Amino acid sequence: MSEQAPLREAVVDLGAIRRNVETLRAAIGTEHTFAVVKANGYGHGAVPSARAALAGGADRLGVADLAEALELRDEGITAPILSWLHDSDADFDAAIADDIEIGVSSIDQLDSVVQAAQRAGRTAVIHLKLDTGLSRNGVTPDAWAAAVRAARAAETAGTVRVAGVFSHLSGTSPEADTAQADAFDRGLAEAARAGLDPEFVHLAASGAALTLPRTRYNTVRLGISVYGISPFSDREPSEFGLRPAMTLRSRVVAVRRIPEGQGVSYGHTYRAPEDTDLALVPVGYADGVPRQASGRAEVSIGGTRHPIAGRVAMDQIVIAVADSHVAVGDEVVLFGDPEQGVPSAEDWARAADTIGYEIVTRLGRRVTRRYVGE
Ligand SMILES: *Cc1c(COP(=O)(O)O)cnc(C)c1O
Repeated sequence: MSEQAPLREAVVDLGAIRRNVETLRAAIGTEHTFAVVKANGYGHGAVPSARAALAGGADRLGVADLAEALELRDEGITAPILSWLHDSDADFDAAIADDIEIGVSSIDQLDSVVQAAQRAGRTAVIHLKLDTGLSRNGVTPDAWAAAVRAARAAETAGTVRVAGVFSHLSGTSPEADTAQADAFDRGLAEAARAGLDPEFVHLAASGAALTLPRTRYNTVRLGISVYGISPFSDREPSEFGLRPAMTLRSRVVAVRRIPEGQGVSYGHTYRAPEDTDLALVPVGYADGVPRQASGRAEVSIGGTRHPIAGRVAMDQIVIAVADSHVAVGDEVVLFGDPEQGVPSAEDWARAADTIGYEIVTRLGRRVTRRYVGE
């Protein structure tokens, strides 16, 4: 192993992102596809992930807040971008100036967008969001009829164009998502009665897009699946033909042998059941390795899986490698493509009682990213 290799590195395979989008598009078959690149592209890097997803056939990008959208524009991304999470003083002037499509979740927000459009002398492109039961943002059902009428009036006045109508599912159960789709259909009918004719109708994120065809309409918003991670804790990405794009790797920085009974790491929650070799790996919870996975998760060293011994610390983990001749400098894969025999982000999620989303998005600042496979 090269001594120059970074201590902690997330290797992101952009070819995997591109192929995942191709695979998803072929399976889902909607006319339009948002690739969601919020939260720094789910930890993979927003700009390279966006470019790879667009190369794979996504025709639009989705982000949560405007700062994320503006950053993509600053980096030269010209594809349509929708941003849907705004506070009361969001900079819609900047959004309109940069051609960012605005998710609108209330009549007050619509008013703010209209005012910004009037200041700019331009038409703002908006997607009206209906709350169909997730109870986060989105126009509440009781305000929806008034909202679509106000949006239609603004459209007639030339200040906005309602390019989309959308909502977001809770993923509670197929029945609950279907009930939300019913509410969405009623909202779409109301929008049509008000004279709106949105080009993009979107409800499903990865989970529903893959499993509930009814929720696909003509556009889906795909996040986690683009990165090759399953939206379901009990289903592997390979079931959907997806390959994880990220491999989190480090290397062994020290090895030692301890006698039976010796405790390891803070609190000595692990005691060696017999004489054993230990490998020290310089990644910890500051790097996104969940402390919750202490004593539960495994890593791969030289193609063999070994368990974490004891607690995950801020900067390091200790691996119980038995008698397997691990040496300083050996590569350690925390997670990557399970088809290659290494643990998956889903394995880590199970070990930490969380979801794959959290495993990839929480990588810390010290983890460098390296891009391969363009
Ligand atoms: C994050 C997000 C998505 C993408 O969800 P995945 O489950 O990652 O596919 C889609 N829509 C909205 C509104 C989101 O916030």
